[in-house]
Amino acid sequence: MNILVINAGSSSLKYQLLNPETGALLAKGLCERIGIDGKFTYKAEGKKTLDAVDVAMPTHSEAIQAVLDALADKENGVIASMSEIGAVGHRVVHGGERFAASVLITDEVMTAIEECNPLAPLHNPANIIGIKACQALMPGTPMVAVFDTAFHQTMPARAYMYALPYEYYENDKVRRYGFHGTSHKYVAARAADMLGKKPEEVKLISCHLGNGSSVTAVDGGRSVDTSMGFTPLAGVPMGTRSGDLDAGILQYLMNKHHLNIDEMLNILNKKSGVQGVSGVSSDFRDLEAAGKSGNPRASLSVEMFNYGVKKLIGAYAAAMGGVDAIIFTAGVGENSASQRMEIASGLEFMGVKMDAEANNVRGRETVISAPDSKVKVLLIPTNEELMIAMDTAAIVKG
Ligand code: ADP
Repeated sequence: MNILVINAGSSSLKYQLLNPETGALLAKGLCERIGIDGKFTYKAEGKKTLDAVDVAMPTHSEAIQAVLDALADKENGVIASMSEIGAVGHRVVHGGERFAASVLITDEVMTAIEECNPLAPLHNPANIIGIKACQALMPGTPMVAVFDTAFHQTMPARAYMYALPYEYYENDKVRRYGFHGTSHKYVAARAADMLGKKPEEVKLISCHLGNGSSVTAVDGGRSVDTSMGFTPLAGVPMGTRSGDLDAGILQYLMNKHHLNIDEMLNILNKKSGVQGVSGVSSDFRDLEAAGKSGNPRASLSVEMFNYGVKKLIGAYAAAMGGVDAIIFTAGVGENSASQRMEIASGLEFMGVKMDAEANNVRGRETVISAPDSKVKVLLIPTNEELMIAMDTAAIVKG
């Protein structure tokens, strides 16, 4: 069964057509500048690539229609008709406490997703627009929602509660939710497989290190703690996000510089992280280059990031009472041998021994720790779309 995976944003939409049984990627691409001038990109093996070509997309409906037209195009397409799309899997950012797993979309589910909008006001409404546009164009095709937060719903209260007055949890739903759940779930399952163990048998620390980064403790296949919080602003310093900081800083800076809370949050989300510290870039490749050419702030920003991840590895090993494997994934985790080495070195005391030669790789599943390392260190490219397609197929097949 082919699954169309849709990740809808407010003005863009990413898509992939996959066969989750074989793992085959039939086609992928994106729609950009929806509601503006509309650009369409399409890639399929052995077919003509469309690269940001002009397609009128006043709304998400035209964008999704362009995707369906391209997939079923006589010359350039990969399916003969719409009936070859068994179901659609939608990435939805926030499922609140309501969704601990992926779910078949019904009217009731749509209402419940809408009720989560205040928790992710920038993302959930766009996800919902994408779902509604698909439903209108593909009546009769089952749709599944896959939530970024769902995997973390297994966290115990001691990990997800903030030490605030309890009514803010009860009345306002303020708690740690965590994100990147689809990625952590995928790599954790792959890791158990690579170790030749059942997910229930292993303690893992999954480091999703990209532009946005989060670290998750996975005990027996269940997320038991994660570094992002009520929003994706929490945890390690990121490309442009500050990560954790003392909330007292907000009052001090807002008073001193006459900032309102929106301006302050904009600084924490868009002007901080390694970008803010380095003043150079949010891209770790630029920072590595700048560091090599002697820019101390570029080097410091990367050191702070690596140190933040290392501390979480120690914390989560303590939280789980041990760890069998540490996983590196996403842009930085999959590509930067130097950062993996810096993060995982100095952890010999807890049984982590890296292998410099094995670590000198990028973008493929492999063990990068020494053969005698008690704790395995794994490089696992993430594949959120495949995870969404697998979940979608499993739900549709019942
Ligand atoms: P996101 O999905 O959060 O936008 P990705 O997982 O795609 O991010 O990661 C993007 C980041 O990966 C880039 O900002 C870049 O810093 C980093 N990256 C990609 N390739 C490399 C590399 N070779 N070395 C270091 N960092 C890299």
